[in-house]
Amino acid sequence: MSEEQRWKAKYLESLEQQEKLERRWDARLDLLRRGLVRSSLAAEGVDKAVDQCMVELREILRRDEIDAGLSALIPRLEKAVLDSEQRRQERVEQNSSAIDGLTQQLLKLELPGEVRKPLKKFSKQIEQRASNPRELPALLAELSHLQQQALSVLGSSESERPGLLQRLFGGRGESAEAAPVENATAPDDAPAQVMVSAASAEQESPLPESVIAVPAAQVSPAAGDEYALPEADEPGYSQVAEHIAASLLSLLGELELPPAHTEQGDQLRERLQGGLNWYELVPVLDDLAVLVLAASNSGQKEFAHYLKQLNERLAAFIDSISETHTGYQESLESAKAFGDELRQQVSGLQSSVQEATDLESLKRTVDSRLEGLLSTVSAFQKQRDSREQDMVERLQTLVARVNEMEQEAQGFRDSIEEQRQKALVDPLTGLPNRAAWNERAALEVARWQRYGGELQLAVLDVDLFKRINDNYGHLAGDRVLKIIAQELAKRLRKTDFIARFGGEEFVVLLPATPLDGAEQLLETLRTAIEACPFHFKGERLIITLSGGLASFASGDTLEAVFERADQALYQAKGSGRNRIIRAP
Ligand code: GH3
Ligand code: MG
Ligand code: MG
Repeated sequence: MSEEQRWKAKYLESLEQQEKLERRWDARLDLLRRGLVRSSLAAEGVDKAVDQCMVELREILRRDEIDAGLSALIPRLEKAVLDSEQRRQERVEQNSSAIDGLTQQLLKLELPGEVRKPLKKFSKQIEQRASNPRELPALLAELSHLQQQALSVLGSSESERPGLLQRLFGGRGESAEAAPVENATAPDDAPAQVMVSAASAEQESPLPESVIAVPAAQVSPAAGDEYALPEADEPGYSQVAEHIAASLLSLLGELELPPAHTEQGDQLRERLQGGLNWYELVPVLDDLAVLVLAASNSGQKEFAHYLKQLNERLAAFIDSISETHTGYQESLESAKAFGDELRQQVSGLQSSVQEATDLESLKRTVDSRLEGLLSTVSAFQKQRDSREQDMVERLQTLVARVNEMEQEAQGFRDSIEEQRQKALVDPLTGLPNRAAWNERAALEVARWQRYGGELQLAVLDVDLFKRINDNYGHLAGDRVLKIIAQELAKRLRKTDFIARFGGEEFVVLLPATPLDGAEQLLETLRTAIEACPFHFKGERLIITLSGGLASFASGDTLEAVFERADQALYQAKGSGRNRIIRAP
């Protein structure tokens, strides 16, 4: 075989191999295509975006030229798959937390051990089992079974206990047990117990000094009742209902209702006095809203009526004055007419005297003339007297009207001022409220800007106040706020200003006070509150507050200084509470 033939044979052989390879490659591609079509059909139905990609994928696979189509589709498919996975994860979490929520609600019920135990076991497995979607039907079936057991247990003691729904959402009846869930909590994990001893408080909180209860033995025997907190160890609705009813009653008392609404007001008062349950709360609030609107409308109407009346009275007043003036003009004219007549009569008398020839006729003429004169004078006097009388009466009426108007105006001024004052006072603590703060702070800052000097601002916030409410009830919380407000206010100077800024937060403004002095004063306030002998059912409670202090410097605005004080307060909270921190 020549060299040339050898090369030719090799070439043909490699050509044949190439063709074989290509056939195998085509077969593989075909296999892959079919595999992909099958997988894409199998993957459908999980997610809309992924489904769309699958339809497109099958279309691309049907064409001859698949490279370009695939390279455009694959990144989109990857993203769709990632998103779908994330959504799946979220669904798993939602399922898990919903099942957990239902289980926890069931666990809050008073259940016998044989029901509670499997429920607790079930509760521990939820997270792990719910992560597998295939487990979901089984989980739900199990929960339904457990719930049925719990319901039948509760149902069997229906006469003593409220039903499940009642317990979950609060009851309609008068009984204290009809309050929302927390009341149904088993006593062994009742929240009020958490802080009852200093030791358990330490376990619960990294901040043991604040809102802790110390054993009864430590309560100072001198602790006055003033600091005793009302006993209310369950913070459920039934516990605050009385408080809400009292607040609504006092609000109703404050309303000056128009006569058309007094009956409605009396009925609402009776309903409130008879106690307020959860279901009545919303309709009562609705009715009260109607009355508040009626009262404010009637106030406005009354004022408009007063203005109208005032207008009418002023018009009458002006008429009266012009009548008096006319009367005065008339009396001037009649005086002039009287003078003229007098002059005429005297001159008539004069000429009669001159014309008289004998004494007898002179005497008669004079007599008759004098008579005429006298009657003119007396007629004038009569007329003048009656005019004067008229004028006096008119003037008296005018004076009476002016007095009346002045009194009414004063009444309105007083009631407007009274309402303004009421709107500036916080009803719980009796301290100025936030609106009063805005007014006074603006005034003090303007004064400081004008005259200079030193001005300090502090923000105070009761520590862990939520726990006071949670552990001892809202009534106790309110009492604490009231006492704290008194304790703070009585330690301030007349020129200082304190307001309840909101919730358990107070703001203090100290004019003409150096920063050191202000800090000392705030320390005094802080220690005074810490030392307040609060007690609850014989147990001493230590309640503390934290504060941030900031000083006005040239160019400062109220907002900027407040913000600095608030930041300092935040630091005080962060660094252990029960302290005052100066803003830099
Ligand atoms: P911190 O030490 O961080 O300030 O904790 P805190 O619990 O005091 O703070 P938080 O702001 O979480 O809670 C304040 C609570 O004060 C919540 C609210 O229910 C309660 N509160 C606000 N106003 C009143 C009120 O007029 N009466 C009662 N009883 N509680 C109130
Ligand atoms: Mg607080
Ligand atoms: Mg607060």
